[in-house]
Amino acid sequence: MKVIIIGGGTAGLTVAAQLKKKHSDLKVQIFEPSDHHFYQPLYTLVGAGVDKKEKTKRLTKDYMPKGVEWIKQKVVSFDPENNSVTDQEGKSHSYDYLVVAPGIQIDWHLIEGLTDTLGKNGVCSVYGYQESEDTFKMLQNFKGGKAVFTAGSTPVKCGGASQKIMYLSEAYFRKNGIRDKSEVIFASAGTTIFGVPGFKEALQKIIDERKIETRFFHDLIKVDGPNRRATFRVKIYNGNELTETQEKEIDFDLLHVVPPQSAPDFVKNSPLSIQDGKLKGWLDVDHFSLQHNTYPNIFGLGDVCGLPTAKTGAAVRKQAPVVSNNIIRLINKQGIDTKLIYNGYSACPILTDYKHVLMAEFEYGNKPKPSFFFDTTKPRWSMYLLKHYLLPWLYWNLMLKGRN
Ligand SMILES: Cc1cc2nc3c(=O)[nH]c(=O)nc-3n(C[C@H](O)[C@H](O)[C@H](O)COP(=O)(O)OP(=O)(O)OC[C@H]3O[C@@H](n4cnc5c(N)ncnc54)[C@H](O)[C@@H]3O)c2cc1C
Repeated sequence: MKVIIIGGGTAGLTVAAQLKKKHSDLKVQIFEPSDHHFYQPLYTLVGAGVDKKEKTKRLTKDYMPKGVEWIKQKVVSFDPENNSVTDQEGKSHSYDYLVVAPGIQIDWHLIEGLTDTLGKNGVCSVYGYQESEDTFKMLQNFKGGKAVFTAGSTPVKCGGASQKIMYLSEAYFRKNGIRDKSEVIFASAGTTIFGVPGFKEALQKIIDERKIETRFFHDLIKVDGPNRRATFRVKIYNGNELTETQEKEIDFDLLHVVPPQSAPDFVKNSPLSIQDGKLKGWLDVDHFSLQHNTYPNIFGLGDVCGLPTAKTGAAVRKQAPVVSNNIIRLINKQGIDTKLIYNGYSACPILTDYKHVLMAEFEYGNKPKPSFFFDTTKPRWSMYLLKHYLLPWLYWNLMLKGRN
């Protein structure tokens, strides 16, 4: 029996380690082109100058689970009818079970002018290793004026990142005595500050207290770095009815961008993707078993999946046991588990300043699902300690080693 896993990121390594723990004789191959593995949840703290970017980066080889074969190649296409995938050198590899976990694709190019100006002219983003460090340089160079933080219309990994870096930046401006000569604007394609009740009201209170201006229905489409102008496609509604779409410019001194994101092209353009509807292009898996909806020997987890919940490492932590358990059950001819299912759990530790985190945890349907006995809608220092110190330790030492 052979399992191929596409992607050795958070999801791929976790599920590989769990499979080997449950079934040590199983042949498991991971296709992963990168020598390095990144703990992306710290990128926001790198952007705020708390950590150096190097803290997020380790060698992939040190986290490859024992007994797993690492194939340092990209997968470029699927042939699910014949149970095989093709790598970037054109070589075909067959499998009994396939796990699709190549993460998300960042489509910087979909915002006109962005790639020419990112890292310059006050334009920054925490959505990248180098980019997160550049973000802090931009914060340091900002001496007051208009600071604009965007959130786009596509699903993204860690939907809360746009707000985390905004709250941290606002706190940084206060710390450095430039808040009174700064405007802070949250320009979002969304309709509200947060989708989950309880957390929504708590975040709105922070927005009001800190005098952050919100502009919803604003989708960034163009950046003119040298002239410091951002163009948004703005939807105008009359009640629930969309009456008009306009282009509006906002000038800026600092612009933090959340780039458009999508499933990687080789998934999007394959028979494994959802073919129409709102989640078109994402991996087509059952929301609860994570089994592919057409090919029963294919599973998916992580950011690539078309699931109606937030894409986070915390979600992967709950998805991996479901995938590894179901694969072992199918190998043992037991069928899909109807008890151990994925309920859409995700978590977003929202940094509200340099000392506090509001720990938003929820399931499908934006239903709050707190793991703690106290009120997590309140920003807390204890949750900051968890986010900054404990979660990274748990990630490197337990999660990637298959211990949940
Ligand atoms: C700024 C930011 C803040 C975040 N904050 C949090 C947070 O606070 N909490 C939280 O839980 N999560 C957070 N996340 C999200 C979290 O990092 C991701 O949800 C998680 O890493 C998803 O795991 P994944 O395995 O699906 O993707 P990744 O970890 O990105 O791994 C995908 C892997 O697939 C590989 N790959 C890509 N294409 C191919 C291919 N064709 N063939 C083979 N391999 C391929 C890549 O090289 C990569 O190693 C944050 C992310 C960002 C960017």
